[in-house]
Amino acid sequence: MPYPVLNDDDLLVVETARDFARKRLAPHSLEWDRTQHFPVKEMAEAASLGMAAIYTSDDVGGSGLRRIDGVRIFEELSKADPVTAAFLSIHNMCTWMVDTYGTDEQRSTWVPRMASMEAVASYCLTEPGAGSDAAALSTTARRDGDGFVLRGSKQFISGGGVSDVYIVMARTGDAGARGISTFIVEKGTPGLSFGPAEAKMGWHNQPTAQVIFDDARVPAEAMLGGPDGEGTGFSIAMNGLNGGRLNIAACSLGGAQAAYDMALAYTADRHAFGAPLIDEPTIRATIADMAMNLE
Ligand SMILES: Cc1cc2nc3c(=O)[nH]c(=O)nc-3n(C[C@H](O)[C@H](O)[C@H](O)COP(=O)(O)OP(=O)(O)OC[C@H]3O[C@@H](n4cnc5c(N)ncnc54)[C@H](O)[C@@H]3O)c2cc1C
Repeated sequence: MPYPVLNDDDLLVVETARDFARKRLAPHSLEWDRTQHFPVKEMAEAASLGMAAIYTSDDVGGSGLRRIDGVRIFEELSKADPVTAAFLSIHNMCTWMVDTYGTDEQRSTWVPRMASMEAVASYCLTEPGAGSDAAALSTTARRDGDGFVLRGSKQFISGGGVSDVYIVMARTGDAGARGISTFIVEKGTPGLSFGPAEAKMGWHNQPTAQVIFDDARVPAEAMLGGPDGEGTGFSIAMNGLNGGRLNIAACSLGGAQAAYDMALAYTADRHAFGAPLIDEPTIRATIADMAMNLE
């Protein structure tokens, strides 16, 4: 699909993502799905091209691009591999959250490592008893001396068990949205463990698992935004998801575009009853509907 309104800078972003996706994702993505391989090495290569901190400030190693660039990048990546693209979108969401809401120290400590994907990040909101109704979450972060002690579990966490850093929404106050704060929790924290890989119908080349906190102790500095961050965790989580939804929509469009392109090529090439399938009116109309819906 041509991009008639893009300027040279826009095109450079799109073409870099497209080229990377064609060369580094497309040839392997089916195999990764079959072997349940999480392509950390290739994601680090994407990071070296600026795709792990797309709309994150450049003073801490981010790419300093715009949301629209992120959408275009995820659309291109997902034409080759929607699953890896979707995980990169979650990682970008976490990077943006730390950049936007973190203290200077949190930004300078974490964003450069996340931008290079030396630190792969997971977003931990959902719980066994709180999904759509995320403000009902029950994982607690109890103040204890000069730190916090986390207790509870997070469900369906993309990257769970493999990621190096977990952006965790936990309850520091009363019931409801205003009692939630966000924490940066490092893998290796005593009391942090992971459930077995979830059995899924697809999306096999990214791991999904429970993230479990059994009196996991973190320093006070782990609270995103420092002491001012107390009680702001739900709005941080929702603002992250507002951008995340754009990215996931872009991943869906890219995957759909790739499916359309393959269907069009196949129906033009495949012959049945003495003619290409595309000449059969019902098939042609179906292909036309697909193109219309994509637009
Ligand atoms: C592969 C995968 C990866 C994921 N990765 C992450 C991750 O990285 N981090 C994370 O935090 N979470 C993650 N999730 C969790 C995901 O965000 C939740 O599954 C989602 O928020 C829905 O929660 P739930 O599954 O508990 O469904 P529920 O909230 O129990 O909803 C069940 C059904 O009821 C419907 N429903 C709920 N409330 C209403 C209502 N008020 N009105 C009408 N219908 C309603 C829902 O639409 C849904 O169809 C992942 C999930 C999957 C499957």
